[in-house]
Amino acid sequence: MGFKPIGKHLIAGEWVDGPSTFEAEQVSGGHLEYAIGTPELVDRAAEAAEAAFPSYSALPRAERARFLERIAAEIDARGDEITEIGCDETGLPEARLKGERARTVGQLRLFAAHIEKGEYLDRRHDAAMPDRQPLPRPDLLLVQQPIGPVAVFGASNFPLAFSTAGGDTAAALAAGCPVVVKGHSAHPGTGEIVAQAIDAAIKACGVHPGVFSLIQGGNRTVGESVVTHPRIKAVGFTGSLAGGRALFNLCAARPEPIPFFGELGSLNPMFVLPGALAARGEAIGKAWAPSLTGSCGQLCTNGSLAFLIDGPGADAFVAGITAALAAIGPQIMLTRGIAAAFHKGAAAQKAVPGVKVLVDAPVEERSAGPVLLETTGEVFRTNHALQEEVFGPFGTIVRVRDAAELKAMAVAVEGQLTTTLHMDDADTALAKELLPLLERKAGRLLFNGFPTGVEVVDSMVHGGPYPASTNFGATSVGTLAIRRFLRPVCYQNLPAALATGDLG
Ligand code: NAP
Repeated sequence: MGFKPIGKHLIAGEWVDGPSTFEAEQVSGGHLEYAIGTPELVDRAAEAAEAAFPSYSALPRAERARFLERIAAEIDARGDEITEIGCDETGLPEARLKGERARTVGQLRLFAAHIEKGEYLDRRHDAAMPDRQPLPRPDLLLVQQPIGPVAVFGASNFPLAFSTAGGDTAAALAAGCPVVVKGHSAHPGTGEIVAQAIDAAIKACGVHPGVFSLIQGGNRTVGESVVTHPRIKAVGFTGSLAGGRALFNLCAARPEPIPFFGELGSLNPMFVLPGALAARGEAIGKAWAPSLTGSCGQLCTNGSLAFLIDGPGADAFVAGITAALAAIGPQIMLTRGIAAAFHKGAAAQKAVPGVKVLVDAPVEERSAGPVLLETTGEVFRTNHALQEEVFGPFGTIVRVRDAAELKAMAVAVEGQLTTTLHMDDADTALAKELLPLLERKAGRLLFNGFPTGVEVVDSMVHGGPYPASTNFGATSVGTLAIRRFLRPVCYQNLPAALATGDLG
């Protein structure tokens, strides 16, 4: 292997050992050892982040942009080594790691360009009205300011784009906030080499070293001590509902509660409307398969729930998806633990009375093939277990009686990252009734497509009502993601001598 991890934490420019180690499994065989994080190491990193805040947040935006661009260049310079260790840790294919790296450096460059434009500062100025009666109005200026050190938790399934230098880190650094990353124990080596790239950029740009630290995991107390550290002012989290909720609760229970921006799981329901179902039910069913099984279904945007009105169109849809899934064999999962959780979660839903198993690939140790279930609207509505995410290549088809029950399903589903309408012109009236229901349920509404694949652009919303995320009105992807790490400050009668930089 080209890159040999040293297995240490990076704290403010120094590689630091821990008192003990944990093992990370390599797909190619064997294990590598990494230092376990501790609350003491978290404390060092958080204090260094606080020390970096005054100078980093005051850097001219153009300099922060150069820093982000340099991180992107340093990641690209290590591209082959990142792909190699990333594949070996996660089992994801090479093309996926390469694509994810392109997205990661693209995000960093997008934020660099975004902060240079300055629109994100959302400057609002109300000029003084000294002659206003009965009282004069003062001069008022609103500018968004960075909130302070941010903690970032990445997810197992995006070792690059939602991890060490992923979207949360890029958004926080762009906003002017130092970052403490809690490394993911499923890809510590990938975390280390990306941290090395950030460290190189810090040194090249002469930025305060406390602006970035990586504390490896291996122990749940690391994450707990990161979110409860008094220097940390917000958390960007991508991961499971259970983990996110536990950390969200800790943030809320702090003496000084802080925002916890948790991007959690989602079923991404599709509603196949009657016109589309009758015209092309089989084709829609067939086209669903890559969204259900891509990356072994280990995507927050994998489509795993389809609602359709019972009848010949529904039969054709089922024939389409079951035929497509029959051609897809088992794939390796991100970790043994995730594979075990997949098999357990699928078994629990298969056991719900009224659920029929349509596709059931044989269980293997660290791999999984597709599982597809079918049930009725009544069973879905009365069994909350069927709304729990089974992270992997897992799908459920819900056959409902009529359009009224289809609308009842739109009301019954919990918050989602996305929802989709498959529709033809003949479905417009029903779609108009569903739209206001679904707008309350998801951050992104798709038409005649599949939810996998998230564009990183100004107009993207990746976040939805709880339990899809704990964010109110926020996104973790796209330029609007920077808003999570900013706070509006209003300056009343700011003296001209202080009106410099972003206040000028
Ligand atoms: P995870 O098990 O929740 O882990 C995420 C991070 O949180 C890890 O660093 C983990 O530490 C830590 N953690 C989890 N529970 C904790 C607890 N109780 N106390 C302290 N730390 C805790 O999730 P994952 O397996 O990495 O990711 C898969 C999940 O992420 C799926 O549900 C998927 O849908 C979701 N996801 C969502 C998005 C999105 O944008 N909405 C994107 C990708 C993935 P360890 O390292 O110790 O495990």
